Amino acid sequence: MSPVITPVDERLRRESRELGLCFTCECCVHFDAEGGGCRQRYPNVEHRDVRLERVTELRFCKEFELG
Ligand code: SF4
Repeated sequence: MSPVITPVDERLRRESRELGLCFTCECCVHFDAEGGGCRQRYPNVEHRDVRLERVTELRFCKEFELG
């Protein structure tokens, strides 16, 4: 499944900090914290531990479900 790709700018970084946005696998109900994988069996490397300060685009998983 292809991700939603969103450009990351200073506004998104600021809003994410202020609102405490969650969008990575670590916040998703489908994340296997012990093994580090996805229980839905999606490749999840690009959705794990994303730091908006370090990236210029966010690859958001369409199956993300707040856990
Ligand atoms: S469903 Fe998507 S966001 Fe959730 S753990 Fe799997 S890859 Fe990560």
